[in-house]
Amino acid sequence: MTAERVQVLIIGAGPAGAMAAWTLATAGVRDVLVVEAHRLPRAKLCSGVISTKTLRWMQAVWVPFPAQAVIGASRHLVWRVGGRERLFVAPNDLLFVDRAQWDAGILAAAQAPTVRAPVTVQDGVRAVAYDRATRRVRLADGTWIRADWVIGADGTAGISTRAVHGQRVPQITAYEAQWAEVPIRPAVYLDWDLPGGYGWVFPKWAGVAVGGASAQAGWTPSRRAYLDQLAQGAGVHLPAGPVPGHGIPSHVPWPPTNGHCLLVGDAGGWADPLIGEGIPYALWTGWAAARALLTPDPARTYTRWARRLGAWQRPLRWVAALRQRTGAAWLGRWIADHPRREAWVWASLIARPLPVLEGGQRIDGEETVTITAGHPGG
Ligand SMILES: Cc1cc2nc3c(=O)[nH]c(=O)nc-3n(C[C@H](O)[C@H](O)[C@H](O)COP(=O)(O)OP(=O)(O)OC[C@H]3O[C@@H](n4cnc5c(N)ncnc54)[C@H](O)[C@@H]3O)c2cc1C
Repeated sequence: MTAERVQVLIIGAGPAGAMAAWTLATAGVRDVLVVEAHRLPRAKLCSGVISTKTLRWMQAVWVPFPAQAVIGASRHLVWRVGGRERLFVAPNDLLFVDRAQWDAGILAAAQAPTVRAPVTVQDGVRAVAYDRATRRVRLADGTWIRADWVIGADGTAGISTRAVHGQRVPQITAYEAQWAEVPIRPAVYLDWDLPGGYGWVFPKWAGVAVGGASAQAGWTPSRRAYLDQLAQGAGVHLPAGPVPGHGIPSHVPWPPTNGHCLLVGDAGGWADPLIGEGIPYALWTGWAAARALLTPDPARTYTRWARRLGAWQRPLRWVAALRQRTGAAWLGRWIADHPRREAWVWASLIARPLPVLEGGQRIDGEETVTITAGHPGG
């Protein structure tokens, strides 16, 4: 059977896939195809917090920020720690974005006629099978795509992690309900007393998102009761309604590639182990994987860069492991014991700059770029 042939196939059009697409498009890499299971713009269960590190990093790499997708901003945080509330005024705003519009905005930049090699996007079509030996991916409509390289950006429920590691990404479930038209004071409310995790109330300009995530078994059956009580604490009465959940990765399966498919974003297991923030790592790994394709040995380069991100996250993993071992609301109490620790948490979780990479730079002087084809053997 013949197969359509591309240089790079990106599976998934969330921030990881869109960022990889934009990086390849601006570098001039031809024949890049993005396949997305849903029609775009697609909704994603997510609070849409864009933290300081994400914003700074996007400015550093010059990726266009889809400002039209901003639906809220706040620098006032009420922390619930050790049963008491404290107000923390952050040095700068947290932004909230509408994920459907924001993700679509980055992908649109990768398709713009003004970039060196606009990518092609097929939405509403799911990748269903991947055969590494022949480097082919089958789509739900029966088409086979032969790709020199695959970027697996299909999140926690996709096919690429299973194809590379034989199992899904290890994950915990985060629950969140979003209501428009719920009046709320314009402060972020964070409950650090939830054992093994935390809860949040995020004010948007029109509406509110209330959610929580915990690695501790036992809180799940009563999540609605917990969210009601959390909202009450923030001065909001939640209307009745469902509370959907979605996976957040809890570990990074290693290595991040099988020599042909590079795993990025949630599919690669990249999320903050303490607060579940995933957008900055999705962008970073999407960008790193795309840049690695511009180097002579993409799989090795990407593995090396991913290791650096892992080292950068290591202190967070230690604290998360400690929280897990000691159980209860250890983190909350630790913050409550010392008034200056909110500032530390802000600096290390929200604002700490992501690692910067050397190499795989945009190749100037050429109209379009042909990259090294992968070796099926590894
Ligand atoms: C309740 C909740 C709240 C969160 N809040 C925040 C937050 O405020 N800030 C933050 O930084 N992070 C947050 N996160 C985490 C964040 O949403 C993810 O880390 C981020 O979306 C990961 O981006 P991604 O591109 O890797 O994956 P995704 O955004 O999940 O995108 C994957 C894409 O792949 C597509 N896909 C899946 N399977 C296939 C297939 N077989 N074929 C083709 N396409 C496929 C999907 O349709 C999807 O569009 C939250 C997560 C949850 C669950």
